[in-house]
Amino acid sequence: MPSINKKTSSPRTGRSTRRRGRPAPELIFGDLWEFDPAPETADPRLQPRYDLFINGQFVRPRSGKYFDSINPANERKLAEIALAGSADVDAAYAAAQDAFQSTWSRMPGRERAKYLFRIARLLQDRAREFAVAETLDGGKPIKESRDFDVPMAAAHFFYHAGWADKLEYVAPGRQLAPLGVVGQVIPWNFPLLMLAWKVAPALATGNTVVLKPAETTSITALKFAGILQDAGLPPGVVNFVCGAGETGAAVMAHPVAAKVAFTGSTEVGKAIMRSLAGTEKKMTMELGGKAANIVFDDAPLDQAVEGIVNGIFFNQGHVCCAGSRLLVHEPIAERVLAKLKLRLNVLRVGDPMDKNTDIGAINSKPQLEKIRRLVASGVKEGAEMFQPPCRLPAQGYYFRPTLFSGVTMSHRIAREEIFGPVLSILTFRTVDEAIEKANNTAYGLSAGVWTDKGSRILKLSTALKAGVVWANTYNRFDPSSPFGGYKESGFGREGGRHGLLDYTRLAPV
Ligand code: NAP
Ligand code: MG
Repeated sequence: MPSINKKTSSPRTGRSTRRRGRPAPELIFGDLWEFDPAPETADPRLQPRYDLFINGQFVRPRSGKYFDSINPANERKLAEIALAGSADVDAAYAAAQDAFQSTWSRMPGRERAKYLFRIARLLQDRAREFAVAETLDGGKPIKESRDFDVPMAAAHFFYHAGWADKLEYVAPGRQLAPLGVVGQVIPWNFPLLMLAWKVAPALATGNTVVLKPAETTSITALKFAGILQDAGLPPGVVNFVCGAGETGAAVMAHPVAAKVAFTGSTEVGKAIMRSLAGTEKKMTMELGGKAANIVFDDAPLDQAVEGIVNGIFFNQGHVCCAGSRLLVHEPIAERVLAKLKLRLNVLRVGDPMDKNTDIGAINSKPQLEKIRRLVASGVKEGAEMFQPPCRLPAQGYYFRPTLFSGVTMSHRIAREEIFGPVLSILTFRTVDEAIEKANNTAYGLSAGVWTDKGSRILKLSTALKAGVVWANTYNRFDPSSPFGGYKESGFGREGGRHGLLDYTRLAPV
């Protein structure tokens, strides 16, 4: 339970607060509400060391090498992870090819569905444990991994289980065939959820998988391998190889892969595309973004402010579709900025394991340094910065939620993906100006529109060059809704019927 104004000194700001009575006016800006610490205590059941998952077994890497996975909230080592070299990647592909030919592609869809349902239910059974492991390894607040990442990952398996015996209805008049072995590489911002987005549709459609998680967040993938064992999934259908970029490149370039699916930065996506040019591999790319969240003067402002905050500060801004550019209608710009500042002052930054934390730890030191560099460029280029005065933990990688006003399209912070809790605020006067500014980016993953007018929503959802356009909400996901980008944000869709098509070959009936 929150206790109001009980403390004499706030641990967040160090400022004094009143014991009783009305808060002093300046406290409306400070910590009106103090929460007692509420740490999550579920046991993540971590092992000191994790091996690779190949052909249904945990196996030692042929190189004998391991690397550390740390907790970014306190910089302490959590576990050792096996480093896969090219011989391990070869072994994973051999197992996946064998499983594809001998069992998985031949199994009727209704049988494959049973495995997917079982996986989803086992994940639900162990949801708390997975949420804690995800938060410890990646730094995201426990309330997000508990309420979003893990339930959504299970939902993707449930959803695709439902498709596995209905594939004949995906493309009427055409027959669907699996592609073969699929190579997949995922980033660190939603480790288990990105795995589910990739593995569930591949398995539902009869493909087998070799997946590489991100170097800083391999633990939930390897715990998930235990669920695959418990579900009795035939050996080799899913294989996990861990490591950094070199392992990722080996997974993407492997000659056995019939398709590669990549989620990560545009820079690495382009390098993969160049390396695969001229091959017959099918590809899907889910890359970076620089979304505009557009607020008109007729929008419900308090809801819009919540949507803006959720759009950029959710998961420390480690979100490809984050609403990192706020385009606000000029007549309301000052009011929106004032409301945002108030809201930022009561966001809780700190220990991700505390159930009250809104903004947890930045995933890694290099990512923290990248955020710092881009924020320094915003200050140097003359934008006005606001940060709430919250105190950050002494150990670990943290960054204050940050607003920049007076931003123009020539500022780096308006053009480059920061992938951190940093919002750049620009203004517009007309609908056409808003559309032009929103589309003035190399990316095209997502956008948001806040207005009372349905006709305006319809106009903008067509005019905005973004794969997803949210109206009067932000960062909403559902397994039945396809997600993916335009332009340098990539191609291909994940989720929904469109996502299934990207894992199949179509043939006449
Ligand atoms: P990244 O550097 O591109 O890494 C993504 C993954 O690719 C990691 O597993 C990485 O390994 C691996 N990798 C690195 N170099 C590689 C290479 N040469 N060949 C093959 N794989 C390679 O991206 P990040 O900085 O970790 O992740 C953030 C980016 O992902 C952002 O740009 C974000 O917008 C994007 N993202 C997009 C979506 C979407 O759906 N569009 C979703 C989430 C994230 P290691 O990192 O382990 O070394
Ligand atoms: Mg880690």
